[in-house]
Amino acid sequence: TSSGSGGGGVRFELEKETELRFEVEAGEKVQLELLSGLAEVFGSELNRNKKYTFGPGSKIAVFTWQGCSVSLTGKTEVAYVSKDTPMLLYLNTHAALEQMRQQAERDNERGPRVMVVGPTDVGKSTVCRLLLSYAVRLGRRPTLVELDVGQSAVSVPGTVSALCIERPADVEEGFSVQAPLVFHFGSTTPGTNIKLYNKLTSSLAEVFSQRCEVNRKASVGGCIINTCGWVKGSGYQALVHCASAFEVDVVLVLDQERLYNELKRDLPHFVKVVLLPKSGGVVERSKDCRREARDEKIREYFYGFRGVSFYPHAFDVRFSDVRIYKIGAPSIPDSCLPLGMSQDDTQLKLVPVTPGRDLTHHVLSVSCMEDEAEAGAGGTSGPRRGVLESPVCGFIVVTAVDTQAQVMTVLSPAPRPLPRHTLLIMDIRFIDLK
Ligand code: ADP
Repeated sequence: TSSGSGGGGVRFELEKETELRFEVEAGEKVQLELLSGLAEVFGSELNRNKKYTFGPGSKIAVFTWQGCSVSLTGKTEVAYVSKDTPMLLYLNTHAALEQMRQQAERDNERGPRVMVVGPTDVGKSTVCRLLLSYAVRLGRRPTLVELDVGQSAVSVPGTVSALCIERPADVEEGFSVQAPLVFHFGSTTPGTNIKLYNKLTSSLAEVFSQRCEVNRKASVGGCIINTCGWVKGSGYQALVHCASAFEVDVVLVLDQERLYNELKRDLPHFVKVVLLPKSGGVVERSKDCRREARDEKIREYFYGFRGVSFYPHAFDVRFSDVRIYKIGAPSIPDSCLPLGMSQDDTQLKLVPVTPGRDLTHHVLSVSCMEDEAEAGAGGTSGPRRGVLESPVCGFIVVTAVDTQAQVMTVLSPAPRPLPRHTLLIMDIRFIDLK
């Protein structure tokens, strides 16, 4: 299928309903060009004779419904054409969801709320992107709900978020992220604080439902929920919780029959649980690879991406000007809990953090909560309403701590002063090498 060179690259002729899969080598770039026919990358159409550039480590599939020829220039780790793809099943899934939207429009009801589940590396995020891009190409306005705290497509790791999708994903850059709703979770796995994770899921569901009440397009568009790959024990319970919080209508289970059977058993009968195969093209990513992707996501937040450079600011923040919290006290044996307190309370507790050297390199979320609101709250020991329910307005990284002078230096996307003064500490660290 690959032959000769087209414009310096390797040319591939794709028959209809096949895909070209390639991976970009570390430290390299690869250019993709559509020479003739029609093709798409994860649901976004390619323009002819435009060069698309993919950075190191990218794993891409160029799919064609009609047949096409494309060329690749640059060092690929692998590049091959596959006839065996589940794209037709994915397209049928999209068609079924679109029917539900049409029906919702007719009957003045709400559109489909879809949860995509499965173990890690089965292509969950890719399926979400595909379904969202197909929907928006038909003029729908679906919402992406990102619950994967390890690999978020919307914000930095350690967060959950919702994003209204208004145009198909950019072939190179993914969805344009404007005004997402982001909540602080603080670590890359839900297991660190499952109570908080479930609570944030509920908060997102509530905000989404409120939006649907006032915005008909959002309601009809429905949502596509991307979840974590942790599908056992509390991870499984978190999926069941999410299904109920969002009142999902459809669950797409990728590649795991056991999970499919469990969800069929445990979810109400009116929820359609569908088992879909994963694509043979999905590549397993190593732990390091995942960590790098997370790091890159934070770097992008501060420094920008591709053509767009951001210039972050560094400035000092006095300890006395901010309040730093960690969410969740370490769990203690039930027998040691004060009377009337449960483990749940400790997991949702705001624990004040005294700034020290160990704060260095930590990512902090800047809570949107009004500073005044907090001043009214009770002492540091009481449960503070508001912080957990408040979205995040941005992130900073602590680059240095001077305990003597009682100040810390931070990296911030905006110049001083900080917009708000309640900061939430993440387990996640970022070492700024710039
Ligand atoms: P998950 O969300 O389940 O962890 P992803 O959707 O992030 O999985 O997919 C894992 C990786 O595989 C991503 O880098 C994605 O670009 C790549 N990928 C997905 N589908 C294909 C495909 N058909 N061919 C090649 N690479 C793919």
